This record gives sequence, C-alpha cells and structure tokens, in this order.
Amino acid sequence: MRFLAVHPSPLMYTKIYLRLEPLGLELLGAAARNAGHDVRLIDLQVENHTDYLRLISDWKPDAVGFSVNYLANIPEVIDLVKETRRILGKALLFAGGHSASFVAGDMLRHAEGAMDCVLRGEGEASVVSLLEAWSGGPDRVSLVPGVVTPAGEGPPPRFIENLDDIQPARDLLRHRRKYFIGVLDPCASIEFARGCPWDCSFCSAWTFYGRSYRTRSPQRILEDLERIREPGIFIVDDVAFVQEKHGYEIGEGILKRGIRKEYYLETRGDVLLRNKDLFRFWKKLGMKYMFLGVEAIDAEGLALHRKRISLGKNFEALEFARSLGITVAINLIADPSWDRERFEAIRQWCLEIPEIVNISVNTPYPGTESWRTESRSIQTRDYRLFDIQHAVLPTKMPLAEFYGELVKTQQILNKKHLGWQALKGTANIVARHLMHGQTNFLRMLWKFNSVYDPALQLADHARPVDYEMSLPPPPEEHLRPVTLYVHEGRGRRGRDLSDTVEAFVNETRMGNPSEEL
Ligand code: SF4
Repeated sequence: MRFLAVHPSPLMYTKIYLRLEPLGLELLGAAARNAGHDVRLIDLQVENHTDYLRLISDWKPDAVGFSVNYLANIPEVIDLVKETRRILGKALLFAGGHSASFVAGDMLRHAEGAMDCVLRGEGEASVVSLLEAWSGGPDRVSLVPGVVTPAGEGPPPRFIENLDDIQPARDLLRHRRKYFIGVLDPCASIEFARGCPWDCSFCSAWTFYGRSYRTRSPQRILEDLERIREPGIFIVDDVAFVQEKHGYEIGEGILKRGIRKEYYLETRGDVLLRNKDLFRFWKKLGMKYMFLGVEAIDAEGLALHRKRISLGKNFEALEFARSLGITVAINLIADPSWDRERFEAIRQWCLEIPEIVNISVNTPYPGTESWRTESRSIQTRDYRLFDIQHAVLPTKMPLAEFYGELVKTQQILNKKHLGWQALKGTANIVARHLMHGQTNFLRMLWKFNSVYDPALQLADHARPVDYEMSLPPPPEEHLRPVTLYVHEGRGRRGRDLSDTVEAFVNETRMGNPSEEL
C-alpha cells in the first residue's frame, strides 16, 4: 500500500524555541516500510497545507495517518481529514499519537464519518496490522489492537515487543536541516528509553504507557547515533538517565566509537543529584544543555503539583547543574490564580539566576490526574487554547491583565537570554550557523514579539470554535490512576529498572507508594 504519515503544523511555543524532528512519524514509517509498504512522510512544521494537498493529489496514497501529539492540533487535523476524504475518496484515514489516544471518541465525532479510526497507543506496534486489515476489508479494522472506530473500541493497544526492533526511518524526512533546539542547529532527535516510572498529577507521559519504563539496548542506540549526520542531538526521553547503568553503557560506547555530538537532555532534579558522576561523564561526552523540571519555586507551588522533591533539592540540583558549566533551562508553571505580586516575584527571581527560564500556564489535560480532580471549571472547549500558553482555568485577575503579566514576564526572560547582551555571547554560534546556512537559531532570536502578544492571546479566546472538546466528568476525590492508562499497566515487570532504582522512584513519586501501579 502507499502510506503517507503526516505531522501537523507548529504550535505557538515551537514557533520560537525549537522545532523537533518528528521521531514518532519516522518510527511509524519504518514499521510500515519494513513490512513492504511504500511510505512517505510529510511534516507540516516545515511544509504547508498546499504542499500536503499537492502531495496527496499527485501521489494518491491508499492510507493517510495523522500524528496527534498535542491537543491544540486537533482542529487542524480534523479539517485536513475532511479535505483529504474529499480528494482521496475511499482511502484509509486515521489518527494516532499521544493526545489522539486520550480523546479518540471525540476526534471521530468531530470528523463526522471522514475518519475511519483512531489508533490508540504505540502506533508502530499496530500500524502494519491496521494497513493489512484495511486491505482485507474495512470491517476487519475493528479487530486491530488499539483501534477505535465510530462503532466502538477494538482490542486494547499493544506495545511493540522490543524497542530495538525498529530504527527510525530518518531518510524518509525531507528538509532535515530545519530541526533545531536553541543553539543546537541543526539537531536530530533520539530515544534512549520510553515511558516514565513517576506519576505526576499534571502529566500524561506515565498514564499513556501504563507507568512502564523500557530501554533500548546501548548497541542499537549507538548504531542509530552513528547514522545521524546532524551535530546536535536532542534526547527525547521524558527523564534522562533514570537507570544510571544504562547511561554509562551508552556513554562508554560513544567514547569507544569516537562519536562526537552535542547533546540536549531533560531530567529531574533528584535524578541529577543521584547520578552526579554520570552527568559529569556526559558533560565530557558533549552534553551542552539540560532542561530541569522545577515547575515552581515555592513550597506552595510545589505542593500544588505534588512533586515529592523538596524545594531544597530543586535548588541543590540547579547549583549542581550550574557547576557542570552547561546551559540549564527550567520551566515554571504559572497558575491562573497568580496575581501581579506573584508575577513580579517570579520576574525578580528569574533575573537573579543564570538559568534560562520558560514559563508555561497550568493546563489540565485529558489523560492526567489533574483533568479528573481539578475542582476549578474549565473555561473553554477550544482545543487550540490547550497549548500551555493560554489560560483555560479561571484567572484571578481579569484575563487581559493575566496575559499582560504573563507576556511581560516572558519578555523579560526573553531579553535576558535572547536579547543583545545574550546575542553578544552567542555571536560565535550565530556566525558558525550562518556559514553553514543554518538560520533557524538566528530567526528564533527575533521572532518573539511577533508570536507573544497579550492582545493576540486574548483575541484567541474569541475565535469561533468549530470543534468543542468534551469537558471532564465531575471531579473525583479518589481517582484510581489505572483508569487513565492507555496501555495496560504491567506493574513492576513493566519497568526496566533495578530494584534500587525502583525503590528510589517509589520514594519520590507523588502517588501512594503502597499502591501497586
Ligand atoms: S517525572 Fe513527572 S512530569 Fe516528568 S515525565 Fe515523569 S510523570 Fe511526567
């Protein structure tokens, strides 16, 4: 079959700071190609709708799959599905990915018959079965694991047997030099491990995978790394180097094979403090940037997000990261209940520290515990506002003032890191990029004001809403987390962790440690 996999357009945040290689799309493409299908990929982060429509009109794929990892992309994908149906007639049209897995029924409802199914869970595990079932007759689609059709749910989603089985089809992606994160430009993405063993209430990374944690073998990771031409590498793991031994094995292989890259990774403060020597080792290997999940700077805020890491630990982790001599970025979550004083305090604090600070807005999502326990009522049913840059919960200040304060804070942080002073410091990097024709980073430096504007953010709330998302059921006090899972939980055997690391995770996770998840 001719199979086209599509990544939707960029969101507000990705218009500025990063544009990541769509690894999930490449894995999906690899699985289908390995099974003998003719596969193409299109990434609308770097191409546009006209390119897409031209491609489907010329190539006429038999199946088109849309990757939906962000709720805010859903209206765009639904419109594209309807348009594609008009052009391709009887082709198989489906969606999959992280967000689609949590709102499959809603997506099918919005598509009004134009979408055949949603594939929940890991797409690369079931895409081949789906394509084969479709060629045997549309009725057979409902037997594929993870499939939801307008008629109902099929068998539960399945995991791929082994993460080593599929290497991403990087060669299928056009415009490879368009991907970057900060100064790592161009930058490829790679996966060392999948899933997260923690259970933060505001996050759906763990509920999607049934709180499992699986690793790729160092051997396959090294083969993949050696094939990557880009000098920058974004390690996509939600929490890098949970299992210290795995991090050492990969690092030693990098040394032995003489692989020279620059790395960006994300981790938790407590993992960093627990594995200091490992992170020092990775600094020597080329780790340049680290994103630390701090989320809030006071005990009240941390308690709100139920992270069982003390404030002292967060600051200690920041100190240690600084001592490594790498660039550290942190994220703070602005709550809609914040007032002017709170924003002012945050601005002051951010100016006092050397780290890059990003601010996002507290947004409950389908698939998270917060979605089912948040007592404040959701103020909008517009998917496009669920992009962590808009307020979907009631704000304490009038909404216009909230955005005014939010953008003012972001502007100050932006000037601190991306303004003239910082640019002086990055002049060498910019010059090097320009020599190689890489302008993603330079363009990023000047885009801020055209994207972040309080008036535009406020106006976004007044746009007509074609597709209304379902609101959560009434808040539950004693929610059973397993009811949120996309993939069935396998308990302890689903986590590729030593007993010591499992115990550490249990001590630091938010939920009830005696509850087996
Ligand atoms: S540590 Fe918490 S926030 Fe980070 S990926 Fe895991 S569950 Fe999500």
